Amino acid sequence: MLKGNTAIVTGGSRGIGAAIVKELASLGADIAILDIGNEEQAQALCEQVSKEYGIKANYYTCNVADFDQTKETVDKIKKDMDNVTVLVNNAGITRDGLLMMMSEKQFDDVISVNLKGAFNMIKHCSKLFIRNKCGRIVNISSVSGLSGNAGQANYSASKAGLVGLTKTVAREFAAKNITCNAIAPGFIATDMTADISAENNPLAASIPLGRAGTPEDIAKAAAFLITSSYVTGVVLRVDGGLGM
Ligand code: NAP
Repeated sequence: MLKGNTAIVTGGSRGIGAAIVKELASLGADIAILDIGNEEQAQALCEQVSKEYGIKANYYTCNVADFDQTKETVDKIKKDMDNVTVLVNNAGITRDGLLMMMSEKQFDDVISVNLKGAFNMIKHCSKLFIRNKCGRIVNISSVSGLSGNAGQANYSASKAGLVGLTKTVAREFAAKNITCNAIAPGFIATDMTADISAENNPLAASIPLGRAGTPEDIAKAAAFLITSSYVTGVVLRVDGGLGM
C-alpha cells in the first residue's frame, strides 16, 4: 500500500513512534527514524523492520527543536532515501508542574520540542512533498491539548498549538496534494505514562472502553490518515471515548 514511499517518523525508536514505524513498514513504506538519542534501540528497530518487511530503514540522530539540525537531517534523508511523502511528527516530551511552580525553562523546552519541532520538520519536508507531488503529514497531539489538563500548561499549550498548525498546513497545502491531520491520543501505555499505572490513575477509571490505549491503537489511526487521500485538517481522537 505504501511501497515506493519513504516515511519519516520523529521519536520513532520507542513507544507510539516505534509502533507507527512497524505499522508503516508492514504496509511497505521505507522508514527514516529521527530521534534525539537512543541510537542502539533505533538501529535494532531498523534492522527488525527491514528484515521482517523487506524495506529500507535508516536512523538519524536529530533534535527536532533545532531548526538547522532538522534542515541538515532532512537534506541527508533526501539523499539517502527515495520519494519522501510521509511525515509523522511524534517526538514529544513532558515537563509537568502546576503553573505557579512551572519555570520558564520547563515551558520553553516543551514548546520547543512538541510544537516548534513539528514546524521545523514540516517546513523542511514541504519542499520535498511539493516536488514529489504528494505529502501525508500526521501530527501527534493529545487530548490534553483539546481539554486542558491541570499540571500540564506547557504540554497542553504545545498540543493545542499543534491543532492550529495542522489545520493551517492543511489549508495552505491542500492544492498540492499534501494532507495534514492530527491524532489526539488519550491515555496510552508507554514510557511517558509509566509512572502513572492504569490502576491508580483516576483517568483510567473514566475511560469508557475500560482500558488504557496501546501504541498500536495510535499506529492504526496514523496508517488510516496516511493512506487516505480525502481526509485533511481533522483531529482524530483515539482515546477510548475519554473525551466524549
Ligand atoms: P515516549 O515513549 O516518551 O517517546 C518519545 C520519543 O520522542 C522518544 O523516542 C524520544 O527520543 C523522542 N524525542 C524526545 N525529544 C526529542 C527531540 N528533541 N528530538 C527528537 N526526538 C525526541 O513517548 P510516547 O508516549 O511514545 O509519546 C509519543 C507522542 O505521543 C508524544 O508526542 C506524546 O506527547 C504523544 N502522546 C502520548 C500519550 C501517552 O499517553 N503516552 C498521550 C497523548 C499524546 P529518546 O528515545 O531519544 O528519548
